[in-house]
Amino acid sequence: MDWETYKWQGKRLGGVGEVMKDGVYKCGYCRSTGFTPRTKCKCSVCRGEGENHIEGSVVRCAFCQGSGVGHSGSTVTCTSCKGKGVVLVKEPVEVCSKCRGTGRSSSQLSCLDCRGKGVVEVKAKKAEF
Ligand SMILES: [Zn+2]
Ligand SMILES: [Zn+2]
Ligand SMILES: [Zn+2]
Repeated sequence: MDWETYKWQGKRLGGVGEVMKDGVYKCGYCRSTGFTPRTKCKCSVCRGEGENHIEGSVVRCAFCQGSGVGHSGSTVTCTSCKGKGVVLVKEPVEVCSKCRGTGRSSSQLSCLDCRGKGVVEVKAKKAEF
């Protein structure tokens, strides 16, 4: 449990593996403007509300780093978080050891282990005694 000190590329962005339970999150895809960046149409992710309501525990999407965009330079929504910028998780979680929390296996493909979340569920351990 080292998440307090875990740094994401030197900056804290509501860090990798940091579980949030606020219930309401700024829409990643439209950056909470309610409109898609390029076409200026109503944002399909948040339906123009600028925020998304999600029940339960979430982490910032590692694959898109919360931007909601699949890969830079495109306007395709992130397949991992569907553009919301956050993804639901089941606690307890730990930083994915395969992608080391980046959510990626290559520049455009999400990590197979965590599917872009950057974290994986901690498997129930057998009792040690
Ligand atoms: Zn939106
Ligand atoms: Zn994402
Ligand atoms: Zn991973």
